[in-house]
Amino acid sequence: SGRWAKAMAILREFEDKCGTLTGKLRQVADAMTVEMRAGLASEGGSKLKMLISYVDNLPTGDEKGLFYALDLGGTNFRVLRVLWGGKEDRVVKQEFEEVSIPPHLMIGSSDALFGYVAEALAKFVATEGEGLHPSPGQQRELSFTFSFPVQQTSIASGTLIKWTKGFSIEDTVGQDVVGELTKAMERVGLDMRVVALVNDTIGTLAGGRYYNQDVIAAVILGTGTNAAYVERAQAIPMWHGLLPKSGEMVINMERGNFRSSHLRLTEYDLALDVESLNPGEQIFEKVISGMYLGEIVCRVLLKMAQEAAFFGGDVPLKLEIPFILRTPHMSAMHHDTSSDLREVGSKLKDIPEISTTSLKMRKAIVELCDIVAARGARLSAAGIVGILKKLGRDTMKDGEMQKSEIALDGGLFEHYTKFRTSMESTLKELLGEEVSECIAIEHSNDGSGIGAALLAASHSQYL
Ligand code: ADP
Ligand code: MG
Repeated sequence: SGRWAKAMAILREFEDKCGTLTGKLRQVADAMTVEMRAGLASEGGSKLKMLISYVDNLPTGDEKGLFYALDLGGTNFRVLRVLWGGKEDRVVKQEFEEVSIPPHLMIGSSDALFGYVAEALAKFVATEGEGLHPSPGQQRELSFTFSFPVQQTSIASGTLIKWTKGFSIEDTVGQDVVGELTKAMERVGLDMRVVALVNDTIGTLAGGRYYNQDVIAAVILGTGTNAAYVERAQAIPMWHGLLPKSGEMVINMERGNFRSSHLRLTEYDLALDVESLNPGEQIFEKVISGMYLGEIVCRVLLKMAQEAAFFGGDVPLKLEIPFILRTPHMSAMHHDTSSDLREVGSKLKDIPEISTTSLKMRKAIVELCDIVAARGARLSAAGIVGILKKLGRDTMKDGEMQKSEIALDGGLFEHYTKFRTSMESTLKELLGEEVSECIAIEHSNDGSGIGAALLAASHSQYL
């Protein structure tokens, strides 16, 4: 029918505009390398902030003692304590708790958010068991993983540049987030010192390195996306401090803010951006990460409903509610292997309350999920190739190839299988058979928390 043809024309046009052919991806990878250089050259030199982390030593395996880590950076936050036992014993004991953040606190006041976090932390500290207390006379020490763009001023202080991922709390911007947390801990009577301020990418990098010395970068694919990597200190023109002894410095790329003329955006991406909490910002993140993929699918479906009566005469009202279709729902539909696609049918019934859908329609919806996920995954891979290029690790040198490993973490990478496999095969496609044999992507399960707890140990005031 004419309606069906119209709907398919909308889908095809979207697919076409999403195009991520190999050549396009190479341009994105090259643009990433160029922007990395520009960002390292001077502050504000690029959309990529390339923030200096003050982490110039990654874990060695010798770390010892009891340390805390707090991970705040998305939908949940985690508190954990780890007892490190040095080279022989490694992790002697590890305990954690996960707490979800009530949505109103994500857009409320700084005191309310940090107060909530400090209270949860105090409760967790109160559950310390046998052998898990700090040494007598010593203060508890914490590494604070705060996964938003921060201008670091030392290893344990930094000011918030802006919120991302659905957070928006005016009075925190420009403040030292360690100061905010410390004040909140004092208010709840918790005696604990923040010895390191990092983000999830740096934590993941540190956690990865602890187990494998080939780890040179970390990438997060969760609610948002970001990457960190180990740079030669001499290749950082904007660094005016002393050269670190190691000769290295970990850089927090804030890759979610990457933007380039080679990164083509569709009308749906543009509309999503304009209506977001941070218009014009985090463009790469908005086409790649878990917070947004489901919403893009929903926007295309809405257009198909409005302009081609895809779901029949009436436009399902719920499709107009922002962020109603979450990426886990999209993933569930995309992975539906039943012959009648009944998972797709039931998700549509449960979420936007579309009660009847034909098999033909469900197939089109699975295809739409595939287009959105594949674009995100392929661009994500191109971004990783950009890092490898910057480090000269994307080609053979004198017939030799260095081994490189990239630690990956985040709910999107962990749970969205088709996203992950598409990303992995795209890396092979871009790097070639030979080179890709020396490049490994490893899932670093909660590497970020573990890594942060390691960085607390290596930055202890008692060393
Ligand atoms: P955060 O990034 O908030 O710190 P996670 O790394 O756990 O937390 O990532 C959570 C994100 O991962 C969610 O926002 C969601 O987009 C994505 N996600 C979680 N589960 C799934 C799933 N089953 N399929 C696809 N995406 C998922
Ligand atoms: Mg996280």
